Amino acid sequence: MELKMNLNKEEFNQWLDTVKDAGKLPKDAVDKLRAMNEQRVIPLYCNRCGHNWKPRNGDPKVCPKCNSPYWNKERQNPEQRRKI
Ligand SMILES: [Zn+2]
Repeated sequence: MELKMNLNKEEFNQWLDTVKDAGKLPKDAVDKLRAMNEQRVIPLYCNRCGHNWKPRNGDPKVCPKCNSPYWNKERQNPEQRRKI
């Protein structure tokens, strides 16, 4: 079984519920993973240069590599990614 650490916190918690319900992990292991999930820092990704980094606190104003203030903006066609 692989850990789905590429999921965001909410998705990871849902995945943990699935694993727990399936009896694949003991409850204390699930609780430990859930606590770890709450504390982990989600790596940020720059849409401009592709740089990945871990934020120290909150979202930065610019990408630390290319200094783009639009690192968290989609480059094009935002309509296609609009949430329902
Ligand atoms: Zn960048």
